[in-house]
Amino acid sequence: MRTDDRVVAAYGGGWLDRAAALRGDPAWLAGRLADPESVVLPLWRDRCLVDAGRTPVRPAVVGAAGLLAAADETVFLGLAEGRAVFAADLSGRAEGEARDLAGAVEAVDVRALVGGLGAAEAAVQAYAKGLLHWHRGQRFCGACGAATVAGAGGHTRACTGGGCGRLLFPRIEPAVIMLVEASGEPERCLLARHRGAGEDSWSLLAGFVEIGESLEDAVRRELAEEAGIAVRGVVYQGSQAWPFPAGLMVGFRATAASTEVRVDGAEVVEARWFTRDELRARVAAGRPLGRIDSIDRHLLGSWLDGRS
Ligand SMILES: [Zn+2]
Repeated sequence: MRTDDRVVAAYGGGWLDRAAALRGDPAWLAGRLADPESVVLPLWRDRCLVDAGRTPVRPAVVGAAGLLAAADETVFLGLAEGRAVFAADLSGRAEGEARDLAGAVEAVDVRALVGGLGAAEAAVQAYAKGLLHWHRGQRFCGACGAATVAGAGGHTRACTGGGCGRLLFPRIEPAVIMLVEASGEPERCLLARHRGAGEDSWSLLAGFVEIGESLEDAVRRELAEEAGIAVRGVVYQGSQAWPFPAGLMVGFRATAASTEVRVDGAEVVEARWFTRDELRARVAAGRPLGRIDSIDRHLLGSWLDGRS
């Protein structure tokens, strides 16, 4: 897989050719599964299987170590420089057995490793985790209750019930995250303290998109509900794959119509405006702008740098 240094939000980047035109062909997939050049990433219950250096175990060559025979589901992730990359789900095994099959010493969440992984490696592990998680939750048809079976290399599931045949696609749950600026001087942005977060833990406001809403509708509704503010000039900033388990974070900037804030007290317990100098002082005092892998950090970092 490519490992160039493109600046992308963690977990994205399109590192693999997903080969959508090929993965629906069972004969082509069978050929890739028989190809000694193909590799398979083992995962166990949403976790990467890692070696003693806490990096994901070297992808096994297909057929090696009995991984495919032991897996509950094997999915095709894509092609890396022409080489097929699969992920195998060992969740049905006890942890020790999964570790032995993979030659791993530990099973660790990719978010705990992200600081030490290359962008491509983190993205592919997260992609594998999200796709395998979806399969584990979709074994039965929600319409008729019959079993479902994977197709298209693991990018669909089909109901086996007679007269039903419903086709299921991996579900993505979009959420919006907003950097809200105050209108006028001084230039300030709105941060919130969420219920359950620490006393001095501030982050951007965010929320899930509901059915029947555009992304911009969701931005306006969430800000009205959680902070009691109306906004104008809602502008898209970028997005981030967030397969934990099925998210897509969509980042926006908006300008508040007024600076009076009224939090909902449920999800958000406090919200207040910060100047760039205040945020820089926090960073200097060792308070990071969100986790290293979060879109919070991108949105706040670009605002601090005066960039859109
Ligand atoms: Zn069905």
